[in-house]
Amino acid sequence: MDTESSVETKKSEYFLQLAEKLENTRDLTDEELFALLESDSEEVDSLLAERARKVRERIYGKDVYLRGLIEFTNYCKNDCYYCGIRRSNRNAERYRLSAEQILECSDLGYELGFRTIVLQGGEDPYFTDDRLVTIIKGIKERHPDCAVTLSIGERDKESYQKLFDAGADRYLLRHETADKCHYEQLHPKELSFEHRMQCLRDLHEIGYQVGCGMMVGSPYQKTEHLIKDLRFLQEFKPEMVGIGPFIPHHDTEFADKPAGTAKLTIKLLSIIRLMLPDCLLPATTALGTVDPKGREKGILAGANVVMPNLSPGNVRGKYLLYDNKICTGDEAAECIRCMAARVEKVGYRVVESRGDHIGFRN
Ligand code: SAH
Repeated sequence: MDTESSVETKKSEYFLQLAEKLENTRDLTDEELFALLESDSEEVDSLLAERARKVRERIYGKDVYLRGLIEFTNYCKNDCYYCGIRRSNRNAERYRLSAEQILECSDLGYELGFRTIVLQGGEDPYFTDDRLVTIIKGIKERHPDCAVTLSIGERDKESYQKLFDAGADRYLLRHETADKCHYEQLHPKELSFEHRMQCLRDLHEIGYQVGCGMMVGSPYQKTEHLIKDLRFLQEFKPEMVGIGPFIPHHDTEFADKPAGTAKLTIKLLSIIRLMLPDCLLPATTALGTVDPKGREKGILAGANVVMPNLSPGNVRGKYLLYDNKICTGDEAAECIRCMAARVEKVGYRVVESRGDHIGFRN
């Protein structure tokens, strides 16, 4: 008994040291990261969360930034194996919003207190640079104090530049996985790891606040891949990191693969907060889907952004990247109220602010 409990004590001391080292040096060796990621101890998770919270509160206080998410098209020319709106899914009921509808959504978002509008969609060739420029300028003219974030996949650098010149401030493009072989297990041949990475570099060069990130627990993912993801984040230094659990969609070839866990996603949120103290870190809808308290737990583990849905009610049920997505039946006003209440319940507050990265504030 005694030796068993002394082994336990030594283990706790080791993890305590790791958490301290991660907080102080923002780094760990691969072996140390491996030990943290593979541990299933609740104690380790709460140790990391506590430190991550401390770091986020030192920089961002108790503020949680809101992003109003407009899912403006579910047409997509890509065929990513994990995604419910991949082009080969004949069962997806396709829609795209008109420029007018998008602007109306942004007006509603503004009224509700959002100061960032996120335009997310599949890679839909209908939305040419010219059409997007008109929409971005439209939002910016009506709401000059709003940030516009784009999340519309891979484009060429000239296109990214035009959209930036039209007023877009930020761009979310998850790298999905930092391992080339793993990338190829998740995507068809015509999509390349190199091009994804090139896009991220282009976006940074142009001057966007850039968000990358990975799915947690995606098919074939190993702890080694997650360590590579963390190394990539350290090197690339994105302003935002969007991570969420992989969740299967019944009409994809990953229909039978298990979902990623809330536990590992939350642990990664803490580790990312400690590695990149300033970063904008959302508690995602996917996290809220695998655990009804997932987003709250994410905030308590260092996340400082939430992204309530602003899409019109009649299309919400159609933007389904994965099964069982939450909040598809709610109206925007309801979503923001519910989110504010959830955030307050865990001791934080949603704020009416653009919520820029601290390196991008004038
Ligand atoms: N087409 C755009 C953005 C839309 S998808 C792009 O390529 O960036 C936004 C993110 O949802 C993706 O980057 C992916 O990480 C995530 N996603 C897609 N399918 C998912 C699934 N089955 N489970 C969890 N997340 C998923």
